[in-house]
Amino acid sequence: MGLLKRWFGGDKPQAEEVTDTGSVAADTAYRYVVVGAGPAGVSVVENLRRQDPDGSILLLGDEPEPPYSRMAIPYLLVGKVGESGTYLRQQQGHYEDLAIQFRHARVIGIDATAKRVTLDDGSGVRYEQLCLATGARPIRPPIPGLDLPRVHHCWTLQDARQIIELAHDGANVVLMGAGFIGCIILEALALRGVNLTVVEMGDRMVPRMLDPVAGTMLKQWCQEKGVNVHTSTRITQVEANPASDEDTLLVDMDNGQQIPAHLVVVAAGVKSNLDYLQDAGLAVDQGVLVNEYLRTSDAHIYAVGDVAQGPDFENGDRVVHAIQPTATDHGRIAALNMAGKSTPYRGSMQMNVLDTLGLISVSFGEWDGVPGGDQTIMQDKEGYRYMRLEFEGDRLVGAQCVGRTNHIGVIRGLIEGRVALGHWKERLKQNPHLIMDAYLSCAQQ
Ligand SMILES: Cc1cc2nc3c(=O)[nH]c(=O)nc-3n(C[C@H](O)[C@H](O)[C@H](O)COP(=O)(O)OP(=O)(O)OC[C@H]3O[C@@H](n4cnc5c(N)ncnc54)[C@H](O)[C@@H]3O)c2cc1C
Repeated sequence: MGLLKRWFGGDKPQAEEVTDTGSVAADTAYRYVVVGAGPAGVSVVENLRRQDPDGSILLLGDEPEPPYSRMAIPYLLVGKVGESGTYLRQQQGHYEDLAIQFRHARVIGIDATAKRVTLDDGSGVRYEQLCLATGARPIRPPIPGLDLPRVHHCWTLQDARQIIELAHDGANVVLMGAGFIGCIILEALALRGVNLTVVEMGDRMVPRMLDPVAGTMLKQWCQEKGVNVHTSTRITQVEANPASDEDTLLVDMDNGQQIPAHLVVVAAGVKSNLDYLQDAGLAVDQGVLVNEYLRTSDAHIYAVGDVAQGPDFENGDRVVHAIQPTATDHGRIAALNMAGKSTPYRGSMQMNVLDTLGLISVSFGEWDGVPGGDQTIMQDKEGYRYMRLEFEGDRLVGAQCVGRTNHIGVIRGLIEGRVALGHWKERLKQNPHLIMDAYLSCAQQ
């Protein structure tokens, strides 16, 4: 009762100092063990506690800080929050109050037959149900010089500390990659007042989120705001600058140009953390393959978040959607299933929202269309406004918007609700601005 009261009650949040909540004796057995203490892992343990007030829960995380949100790192970079502002739960004693045991430890192996995980200190923990929530890590492309000091990813709090130290006002900063994460970092770096150059090998910005028209619009917007953007360009080498007495770098690009840099930030994609699974015998592809119950090929092991390759909302294919809403949704559904409440997952929808120096861009679902589908496009290049709707039959299945935020919720609702548009489809093809009218007419019936 006390536990539930704390859980649902509105105790005033306090900055949290999470340390290990008690020691774990070697080979202790738990009802539930969750590996990885990011948003997905935290969602799993909290939802498990909701479902099972008494089952023992162990959360294992290998980063030194309390569980935090990577999504909040840009706010840390621009000084809107301190480090504790990135913590997923702010209330002192949050995990202890839920009788969730939290331990800083790295899992190095899983014996699925013995139902036992091995930790990096050599000890082991046994489980009845295991959930893998180990996320992803940034890719370091095989380019000479990316191991030099002053070259960093922007993935962890430790990365953020190093970027804050080097990305001072007026510093020359090169950002490798203008994908979704790259563009989020771009905004934070630009707001720090650095002299920023972005190098993207694709022919446009965010090529996996926006089509050529919208991606080029975004590039032009950034250039107007003083950011140097090179698309269709690769960094070929990073080297120490021999002419500098402050240990700076030179960045070579395949267009023949060379840029001096105090800092290079690498945002060249991510890959699921799978290394510790070598002997676990699980089916893996890009991530750990899971079914509609988020269960792996082992009946006692689940996987969630950036490490999981789970059902796609639109077509049921198995995909890694490395975004936070998917991580927390996965966590909720996996917890229900682990606790014995069989609950299928409806699938995750690719959904990206960017605010790049004041220009909002959004893409949903099958934003680039489906075979046999059709589309409508509205564009105003000078006014930085763009809307593209993608249909399959009479359903909206994907969309992209630049410079428009007013109908985002409606578009999402139509896609997620798989709403039959009937004659409204043709009207929308003539005039996409009627999207709200279509929603009110079709979705509210
Ligand atoms: C700068 C930045 C901005 C972002 N902004 C957005 C955004 O605006 N919107 C959005 O949807 N997404 C955003 N993301 C992506 C989002 O942060 C991820 O999708 C989300 O963190 C995934 O959650 P997760 O719990 O699956 O993985 P993670 O957050 O990566 O957590 C996994 C945890 O498991 C730990 N771990 C790994 N291996 C082991 C092991 N063997 N043993 C123990 N622990 C282990 C990891 O160290 C990590 O702490 C952003 C990411 C970054 C870096």
